[in-house]
Amino acid sequence: MFKKVLIANRGEIALRVLRACKELGIATVAVHSTADNSAMHVRLADESVCIGPPPSRDSYLNIPQILAACEITGADAVHPGYGFLSENARFADILDAHNITFIGPTAEHIRVMGDKIEAKRTAIRLGIPVVPGSAGAITEDGEAARVAAEIGYPVLIKAAAGGGGRGMKVARSEGDLATALATARAEAGSAFGDDSVYIEKYLEKPRHIEVQVFGDGAGNAIHLGERDCSLQRRHQKVWEEAHSPVLDAAARDKIGGVVANAMQALGYRGAGTIEFLYENGEFYFIEMNTRLQVEHPVTEAITGLDLVNEQIRVAAGDGLSLTQDQVRFQGHAIECRINAEDPRTFAPSPGQISYYHAPGGLGVRVDSGIYQGYSIPPFYDSLIGKLIVTGRTRAECLMRLGRALDEFVVDGISTTLPLFRDLVANPDIQAGNYDIHWLEKYLAGSGGHA
Ligand code: ADP
Repeated sequence: MFKKVLIANRGEIALRVLRACKELGIATVAVHSTADNSAMHVRLADESVCIGPPPSRDSYLNIPQILAACEITGADAVHPGYGFLSENARFADILDAHNITFIGPTAEHIRVMGDKIEAKRTAIRLGIPVVPGSAGAITEDGEAARVAAEIGYPVLIKAAAGGGGRGMKVARSEGDLATALATARAEAGSAFGDDSVYIEKYLEKPRHIEVQVFGDGAGNAIHLGERDCSLQRRHQKVWEEAHSPVLDAAARDKIGGVVANAMQALGYRGAGTIEFLYENGEFYFIEMNTRLQVEHPVTEAITGLDLVNEQIRVAAGDGLSLTQDQVRFQGHAIECRINAEDPRTFAPSPGQISYYHAPGGLGVRVDSGIYQGYSIPPFYDSLIGKLIVTGRTRAECLMRLGRALDEFVVDGISTTLPLFRDLVANPDIQAGNYDIHWLEKYLAGSGGHA
């Protein structure tokens, strides 16, 4: 097992990883920018190293500085969390070259799955169902028109290097195609420095359902069921559930089995998520994330497993702590992503927290690095915490979530808590009746929330 893990991240996920390390008796090193001197992960770590000024590219993305921090502190492994360097194959290679373990998959698997076209090819090869579309990148408009006519409009133009929903454009008819292609290419070029795009059938009313997988890198892989992340704004997840309100055990076992077999064939190591759109009872692969997800706690809630602990075990060569037969699902869990944002305009709301009270009680978990008096810096993403609630049934979970939201107080800044108080009382949400467009329509129709 590792002696000392450096956590190359910040905020709630740095704290999440730190907790798993402490429970395993592993010493922790926090790295931080000058904007994060008083962050909770820095306070709770055994050691901390300042790695640069506030902008992420100079600190949390600064590979030489992070490497230097490993060498100064003698860390023998790095946990990248999510975002930042978590899906950076070069970072994984560099650590490897320095005999420091990257707690994640191989650099090769990160590379393959990080290129959306290559990932889709791999998914097809492994027997995972995909969205109908172009076989590879589309290089000329004539080819785009041919593929679109074949799969039928509407179609979606997507960036090969995509992420965060950027570089995606819908074309409803052939007349829209040239503009959609040009805009998607331009957006992809400026966001990712790579303007390759491909085409997919645009699904009108899908749900977003993803399967959590784990491989040991030695040919064993298991699935831990699915999460339904259909409530999204601008392709960003807002609310996540496990299980999905629309899947039964047979459907879950089937897709889970397909995915676990695929990961076994790939020889995958560590935690991964296969994301699907789900419409009319069919799954369509959209991408694989080769890291821990923000929403992993809902899976932990219904399996009783510590996913970061599993990641560390696998990276240390100890294998998974259980087999597929030993995975047991119990109850229902929902996670709300609490952002420091205006609940009507979603404009970021950094600043000092004047009063803080987190909810508690049976089935309530809060993952957050904030505290009373803490100042949220304006340089990073606006997620300040996650509220995860568990119940024996979905109905009980919703009741408990409403109760926990009422107890939650964050003063001094704006947060998205009021949005969740509205959502939990909404009849469509209570019925589990929503697709990936529901939230945006709701926000447009109701004019937002005060
Ligand atoms: P990114 O890597 O940019 O997040 P994804 O491929 O994961 O891109 O897609 C993000 C979101 O865009 C999905 O969750 C879904 O809301 C929407 N989306 C992606 N592909 C399609 C499609 N073929 N039809 C309809 N919506 C899609």
